[in-house]
Amino acid sequence: MQTPTSTYANEADKKLSEWRVKALNIFLTTAAVIAVPAAAIPISGAFYNPNEIPGAIAISGIFLVILSLAIFQKIDPRIRGWVLISLGYFTAVVDFTRMSLASDAPYYLLAMPLLAFILISPRSGYVAGGISIFIYSAAAVMADRGMFDHLLINHDAPFAMRWWADAGLIFVMLVVTLMVLFRQFFRLLRKTIEAESLAVVELAQANDLLEQKVEQRTEKLRESERQMALIIEELKQARDAADAANKAKSTFLASMSHEIRTPLNGIIGMTGLMLDTPLSSEQHEFADTIRNSGDALLMIINDILDFSKIEAGRMEMDHHPFDLRECLESAMDLLALRASEKGLELGLLIEPDVPSAIVGDVTRLRQIIVNLLGNAVKFTECGEVAIEVGCDTKSVSASDVCLLHFKVRDTGIGIPENRLSAIFDSFSQVDASTTRKYGGTGLGLTISKRLSELMGGRMWVESVAGKGSTFHFTIKAPATILDKIEERSFVPQLDGKRLMIVDDHETNRRILILQAEKWKMIPVPFSSPLAALGAIQSGERFDIAVLDMHMPEMDGVHLAQEIRKVESERLNPTPLIMLTSLGWHDDTDLYHFASFLTKPVKQSSLYNAIVNALTQAQSKRTSPVAATGHQFDSTLAERIPLRVLLAEDNMVNQKLGLKILERMGYRADVAANGLEVLESLKRQHYDLILMDVQMPEMDGLEATQKIRADFSADRQPHIIAMTANAMQGDREACINAGMNDYVSKPIQVKELQRAIEVLGK
Ligand code: ADP
Repeated sequence: MQTPTSTYANEADKKLSEWRVKALNIFLTTAAVIAVPAAAIPISGAFYNPNEIPGAIAISGIFLVILSLAIFQKIDPRIRGWVLISLGYFTAVVDFTRMSLASDAPYYLLAMPLLAFILISPRSGYVAGGISIFIYSAAAVMADRGMFDHLLINHDAPFAMRWWADAGLIFVMLVVTLMVLFRQFFRLLRKTIEAESLAVVELAQANDLLEQKVEQRTEKLRESERQMALIIEELKQARDAADAANKAKSTFLASMSHEIRTPLNGIIGMTGLMLDTPLSSEQHEFADTIRNSGDALLMIINDILDFSKIEAGRMEMDHHPFDLRECLESAMDLLALRASEKGLELGLLIEPDVPSAIVGDVTRLRQIIVNLLGNAVKFTECGEVAIEVGCDTKSVSASDVCLLHFKVRDTGIGIPENRLSAIFDSFSQVDASTTRKYGGTGLGLTISKRLSELMGGRMWVESVAGKGSTFHFTIKAPATILDKIEERSFVPQLDGKRLMIVDDHETNRRILILQAEKWKMIPVPFSSPLAALGAIQSGERFDIAVLDMHMPEMDGVHLAQEIRKVESERLNPTPLIMLTSLGWHDDTDLYHFASFLTKPVKQSSLYNAIVNALTQAQSKRTSPVAATGHQFDSTLAERIPLRVLLAEDNMVNQKLGLKILERMGYRADVAANGLEVLESLKRQHYDLILMDVQMPEMDGLEATQKIRADFSADRQPHIIAMTANAMQGDREACINAGMNDYVSKPIQVKELQRAIEVLGK
């Protein structure tokens, strides 16, 4: 087996011999070129001197041989080298015979070993060195014996052995020295080449190693790329699956909502109607329970739907201008009855810097307020529940985005400190016993918090267990101006009028003061009825007075009687307005009052009451303003007579719809699907169509589009959609199809009345 070192030695030898071949070729080519003029001289000399003819022939022969050697490069370089060396020796021998020691022969003999060394191999150099010494010695002996005498052309040349020995010594020394030097030089050269080969090989190996590593890394990279692509593919599939699942969930929610709401509509509506019929007390209780359970179920369904929508990121906020006070008052309306049943004071305080109208989602804002207010009323046994609204940003001009800060404060059971952070989590309640006592799903706060965040704000709570809680939330909304609000704020009749306010309750007093100041009245508040009476007795004059019903020391009716006694002499007694948080039962002694208002007092009701009282002082007694409940306005049909068509496929809902309309004084016709609607419309004109959206054969949307396209302007009915679909986009779909309005199922009597009243304007 070859050792690596010998491999590199061979490599070096190979390189050297390649180099020698090149050097030989260059030498031969150069010699051939030089030989032309060199040969020309003796050949031309031969023309004049016939003695030189043999020399010229010899030189020409030598030239031809050199030329052939230069041309035929395929011949083994060793042979060519030795032929060249032989020519050198031949020349040397001829020179010796002709010129003896005076010739150029010693140079040839010196040059040939060197050439052999360089152009053939070191060994050939040694051999040639030997040959040179031999030729020199032989020439010396032969010259000494006179063997060249007849050949010599230069008879003066020295040829005695003494001379030969003398020059021979130097000659041999030179040959040997040069041999040794060349040998050393070639060894060095060989080693250098060996080292270089080794370095090249090592470099190549290192390069190979590097490439291998790069290849390995590249492979690993490719592998991880493949893995990555696999993961991405899996992720895509997972996302698609999730998307599909989400879509399926939404569709399921929509249809579930429809499926559950439709029968619920029947249950709630029918029990509502049943409660308005004569029932035994037991039957009334049963019906009431059914009605309450239905309401509760509907609330839970709504909560779950809202929660799923928020979770799926599909809750979209509406952006429309609305009257902020109206929104808050309508939310309070919903809870006023429950609050008054528990004897709770319910108050609304809007700071003067709060814009009257903002742009946003009125339904969702109302939902938050109803949630918080509902909890506050639910968890408070005595005391008060109040909403306060302020503006956390300064400089309110129209279209300024303000950060509205709402506080819903109660004096209820409060929340222990360690539960404060958890109550905003979904399905979380303070403790299990709370659930049993108060019921609820634990979703209300989660939904409210997320809604406030969707409106650009946040929600938090402050609470002391046993003392009460304050739920705060903020929303961002641009301020705007609504025409009708502007009208209301222009109130010349009230300017500068003195308003006596008698209420032991501080929040209520503040609300009334702020309100009065807004109308440029001069509020004079009293916390005690005796103090108020004292003021009247001392002759102080008021243009109007608002008295609270429930006060310690003396109630509102009693105070009114006392005031009337003091004023008995006066022609124009102070008009009195009674504030009460309970429904009114007792009819005695009410003639003192110009008006009765139920707390929480709506700004519009208070305004109307004050203006009425001032203009018709004492003349008219308005009936107490009802707190809530589904009161049918039986005069609606009288006020706004309409031909009504009810489009509804479900039998129960048909009956319910007809009954509700009947209570309002309308006798409606029925169509069970879109095709029937079109038929009926062809037969006769209808002013109003209550249109269910989902119906067999032709749905409400398609029917509406056909009506809008096919009938002339004077035969176009007002169309109100009725749908159990609660998902986002339903309203838009109805409006886009050409409907005028939208009420959701189960039908809320008030909502329907509102939608119909629009037609009377
Ligand atoms: P629920 O439907 O149970 O009322 P919420 O998310 O609205 O669900 O409320 C979660 C829990 O937070 C309630 O069950 C109650 O324990 C507590 N909580 C909410 N509001 C109040 C409050 N005003 N006073 C006391 N506890 C409250």
